[in-house]
Amino acid sequence: MKRPSSLWLDQALDAPSTPCPRLAQNITADVAIIGGGYVGLWTAIELNARRPDLSITILESDICGSGASGRNGGYVLSWWTKAPSLLAMWGEEVARDLILKSEAAITQLDDFCKQEGIDAEFIRSGWVWGAASQSHNGAWESGMQACAKLGVGNLELLDEAGAQRKSGGADFRAAILDLTAALIHPGKLVRGLREAALRRGIQIFEHSPVEHLRRGRPAVLKTHQGSVAAKRVAIATNAWAASVRELSRSIAVVSSDIIASPPVPDLLAKLGWQDGAGVNDSQQMVHYVRPTRDGRILAGKGGLASGFGGNVTDVMFSNERRAGIVEDKFRQLYPGLGGLQMNSHWSGPVDRSADGLPIIGTLPGHDHIAYAIGWSGNGVGPSQIGSKAVASLLLGEKDEWSTLPIVRAPPKSMPPEPIRYIGSHVVRTAVRMRDTALAQDKLPNALVNAIADLAPRGVEDK
Ligand SMILES: Cc1cc2nc3c(=O)[nH]c(=O)nc-3n(C[C@H](O)[C@H](O)[C@H](O)COP(=O)(O)OP(=O)(O)OC[C@H]3O[C@@H](n4cnc5c(N)ncnc54)[C@H](O)[C@@H]3O)c2cc1C
Repeated sequence: MKRPSSLWLDQALDAPSTPCPRLAQNITADVAIIGGGYVGLWTAIELNARRPDLSITILESDICGSGASGRNGGYVLSWWTKAPSLLAMWGEEVARDLILKSEAAITQLDDFCKQEGIDAEFIRSGWVWGAASQSHNGAWESGMQACAKLGVGNLELLDEAGAQRKSGGADFRAAILDLTAALIHPGKLVRGLREAALRRGIQIFEHSPVEHLRRGRPAVLKTHQGSVAAKRVAIATNAWAASVRELSRSIAVVSSDIIASPPVPDLLAKLGWQDGAGVNDSQQMVHYVRPTRDGRILAGKGGLASGFGGNVTDVMFSNERRAGIVEDKFRQLYPGLGGLQMNSHWSGPVDRSADGLPIIGTLPGHDHIAYAIGWSGNGVGPSQIGSKAVASLLLGEKDEWSTLPIVRAPPKSMPPEPIRYIGSHVVRTAVRMRDTALAQDKLPNALVNAIADLAPRGVEDK
């Protein structure tokens, strides 16, 4: 069945692109990569840069970018919001290194696009993390203090007037502005990376889902009509990785849902938001709102639905009911934009890890098969870090990438199915109740609080 598209992908597909065939024969490769999103494509490009002699093949079940990479909000964020956890888990030196690497990834993304002539609409317009209620005011405080201690980040506190102006009119009491952050057009980025990979001689097969991975040496990846025998393999399948035996307990799959308006450039100009920042509120099931270069306003929300195991069904790609919820929440956050019509919606799967940080490594007992998953809603920038770590692991290089602490054995942090699916409903209901209470400056019930605390972490460290 054809996967529902996204506005981003439709726009990116308007540009001519090189056709990629279906795999219909048995071939060999030095490296086979499963998944043609940011992680798979950056990994291929990184491996090619380090070892141009390697033959690299990407197998994508649909088209490159049809997963989260062609459907996301387009926020390019560092890991500064994770500073308190990083400090607690790995200490000052490691925390600083990880945050600096994630900041550098934002600049490198821009540089790569410029070098390759990819117009991914990169704009370093900053990110506003605001509080729409008194209870949420200062949600960023611990992150800010940790960053000050580490000497990282470029943060500015905004008062009520500043927060509302910088966010295009969100009903904020206060906010923090992250000046390192950028926005991109996700579809143009992923399709641009695909062309960059093809220019380097990387082979891409689309509409070629891997149905079976034999873990021997060589590993054999079987598709419906063909196979690849590969010396090394990278699993870059985001939420779908929950169907890989060794990885199934490491992530929980949730949806993120987006709605978009038609172009309203005059309204954006009136709001002073044409080249504006991406905006998040402080709810745990976060709301995000951003302008686009073609003058639209786009709003999204994470966590409204959960997936069963790695079974990423169509309901993860589009859902009217969830789009309606996103619209209601957007109207609450932007009371001044009541008349704005929304005319497009889509969704996508998010691979949440328990600590909100990626999980990178090699399958236990199979050091020729690497994985990079668990982006937890912050993969646009950091996927470059993952690709460098995967490249080092597959090349057997012990360096600053393969020794990062996010290179780790797959944790069994999630309960097995069906407990995870059922538990996820209970936890998400509690999170929703707590979010509603805090948004109204009420104290959440203690039981609700305790259950909501079980939720895996997202972009913000909570
Ligand atoms: C709606 C939404 C909003 C988001 N907003 C942001 C944001 O603003 N900023 C941010 O940083 N992050 C955001 N994210 C997260 C970000 O999009 C992801 O972290 C990132 O795209 C992950 O890249 P990936 O390559 O791992 O995954 P994907 O792009 O999903 O790529 C995985 C690919 O694997 C393919 N695949 C799966 N199984 C197989 C198989 N068996 N054989 C072959 N191919 C297979 C899939 O078709 C897919 O194309 C958002 C995600 C969503 C869904």
